Amino acid sequence: MGGYFSRRRNAARAVARFRHPDYVRWIKAGQALKCCGEGLIDFCTDIIVRFHRSLVVQHGLAECPFPGNIKKVTKDGRSWKVNCACGVCDVWLRSIESQLATGQFSWKNSNVQEWPIHPWQLAKIFMGPGKDPGSYDPADTDTAGFLQLILNCGLFAGKLDGNKVQLVRTDRNNIMHSENLKVKSTDLTTYLDHMIDLLREPALQNFASAQSAIVEINKIRTMSLDVNLTEVRQLETSMWKEMIADQQATNKKDILKIVTSCKDLQNQLGSAYTKLKTDVDNLIVQVEDVTRKVDDVREDVTRKVDDVREDVTRKVDDVREEVTRKVDDVREDVTRKVDDVREDVTRKVDDVRGKKSSQGKWMM
Ligand SMILES: [Zn+2]
Repeated sequence: MGGYFSRRRNAARAVARFRHPDYVRWIKAGQALKCCGEGLIDFCTDIIVRFHRSLVVQHGLAECPFPGNIKKVTKDGRSWKVNCACGVCDVWLRSIESQLATGQFSWKNSNVQEWPIHPWQLAKIFMGPGKDPGSYDPADTDTAGFLQLILNCGLFAGKLDGNKVQLVRTDRNNIMHSENLKVKSTDLTTYLDHMIDLLREPALQNFASAQSAIVEINKIRTMSLDVNLTEVRQLETSMWKEMIADQQATNKKDILKIVTSCKDLQNQLGSAYTKLKTDVDNLIVQVEDVTRKVDDVREDVTRKVDDVREDVTRKVDDVREEVTRKVDDVREDVTRKVDDVREDVTRKVDDVRGKKSSQGKWMM
């Protein structure tokens, strides 16, 4: 149990993992992402704090008079509501609600009680789900969170080049959803270039965090990672934990396979490893469930198509019979009329012939 030999074995496993340049580049890409997120902290905090202050000042918003109540945001028909009748909580809710530019709210990321006290509690509502509702420190937010905030919250509209933000977001997903945890040399260069492009935006020029992030990301291009450094192992662990916590990630089965073969990583991840196993199990159950539902729908559709086909066949037969009957009627009718006309003509011709012959006789 964690003795000298198992520590040695774990260290050897980590060294083996870090011998693959693609894996090292994956870690480097993660480090660059982390720097990029840190670079965005000052800018994002500035905008959120100003917004929060403006709400407090303009609307004279105080804290909720019932701080003891457990408050939640729920959906009431098509609109959101807070289960607090104080009138204050509702103004906060409407003010936050008015800032959604795109995406959807993650109310569960946030602790309603702390809206009037901690500005960052508002910011987290615009990020993807799964954030800790108890946290109000921007430093706890990961890079994906900052990018989602910038893209989803109207307070950031037009401040940065949206394409540049989107590129880094796509890169982030490529890195964190990668199935084999490998990054090619050319891809790493592209990722770093995109991050620096974003951090060089004019709106970020006066923020020290953005400027120092540019320097740090440029260093990553040429730096070598030392697997024996605690920071490197911590970075690796945090990347794995971010992957496991990511609710959009579709690569969990693959990463479980990798982590199962790396005993030292299992130790590093601790409870996150257990969560990963549960996630994958649930995923398998979900897939089975979806497969069963698809089968049900297919059967139902087949049955309905058969019903419709039978019905149509019957109707076509009915119509065919009716048409046949009518055609027969018409044929009979026409035949009868033709016969009538023929008879009539024959009679008239006979009449004319009769007259002629009697005339002839008379002439003779
Ligand atoms: Zn209230």
